[in-house]
Amino acid sequence: MDAITAVGSVRRFAPDIGDVSLLGVAPVSRIGHVLRAFARLPFVAEVKATGPASVTTKTARGDVTLHLTSPEQAGAALVWHTGSRAHVDELRARAQRLGLRFTDATMSRVGGGAVELALETDVYAALELPFIAPELRNDGDEIVAAERGELPELLAEEHIRGDLHTHSTWSDGRNTIADMVSAGKQLGYEYLAITDHSERAWSSRKLAAADVGRQREEIETLRSRVRGIEILHGIEVDIMPDGNLDFADEILEGFDIVLASLHDAADQDNAELTERYLRAIRHPLVNVITHPANRSPAVSAGYPLDFDRLFAAAAETGTAMEVDGAPGHLDMDGPLARRAAAAGVTIAVDSDCHRVEALSRQMRFGVGTARRGWLEPSHVLNTRSANDVRAFVARKRGRG
Ligand SMILES: [Zn+2]
Ligand SMILES: [Zn+2]
Repeated sequence: MDAITAVGSVRRFAPDIGDVSLLGVAPVSRIGHVLRAFARLPFVAEVKATGPASVTTKTARGDVTLHLTSPEQAGAALVWHTGSRAHVDELRARAQRLGLRFTDATMSRVGGGAVELALETDVYAALELPFIAPELRNDGDEIVAAERGELPELLAEEHIRGDLHTHSTWSDGRNTIADMVSAGKQLGYEYLAITDHSERAWSSRKLAAADVGRQREEIETLRSRVRGIEILHGIEVDIMPDGNLDFADEILEGFDIVLASLHDAADQDNAELTERYLRAIRHPLVNVITHPANRSPAVSAGYPLDFDRLFAAAAETGTAMEVDGAPGHLDMDGPLARRAAAAGVTIAVDSDCHRVEALSRQMRFGVGTARRGWLEPSHVLNTRSANDVRAFVARKRGRG
């Protein structure tokens, strides 16, 4: 077997994953053997179903299905099993119009044999389309854009030059600033912002106003020791129920970048929450609104705010809105991020990471979510240099 790839909603970076689907490539003669071997793996509790080229198993963490395909049909199978359902249905209809039949993860000629499509790009080429990235495969809208040559030049992980939202042991992070910075450096980041929670934040531990000076001293000491990565001293300040920020302006001015969050709805209705956000967006010291909907996939849909007003205010004031890659947020989600970018809002794609092991993974989730929102590098604040990020902050402060 060549390789096993995650397909389905995992590969599309869908926010709520149901069952996990995998695709493996094996010669036809080996398919039965590979399926039986998979079913015997230690994490498999039970075999729920088997088909000619698939096996569905129950594991402690949910159902996992392995699909197998031959090398000749690997591209067709990858498209088929990646979905979405609507995307594949559109491709099937298109195949039919071109004298092809796309069924059961195989492409064949109508009235003829199978068409060899080893790569996904071969599939799209056979359907007279440019390659469509998995994160874009959604409701069929992407196929219309592909036909018109209007697919985005998508953001990719290698465009990300720094992370603007991370936590340390000064609030509820698990690692020291030094450890977080060293992990960021290993990822090749040019800069990392440490943004702990302000003192009345809704989190287990927070940074007291009285400790901000000591945290700054720690960062300054670290700056003199660590080369090759710039440390931004930031804060994730809470937006209080009255729309004021948790820290006074004199304290906020001392930070290199200010992120503002609305963690606690305080029983307010959506109009009140929208006003609360608008006050923060118009505040000259606020640079990024984090996880704006405050949603949590599969748990809460978040605040149904008046996003058009928020986006207009953010674009007008030079305030970024965030795509937060923490699995408990993935917020903004793809469609909302797409609306924000269309309204002219600058987007920050962040990890909101609380421990070093998750730094790259959560950024990957952030980038995957941003790609679902059709974001291009030019939409994203942290594809820019540290100096450009500082200039973004300075511009808004100068306006205030
Ligand atoms: Zn937060
Ligand atoms: Zn955070």
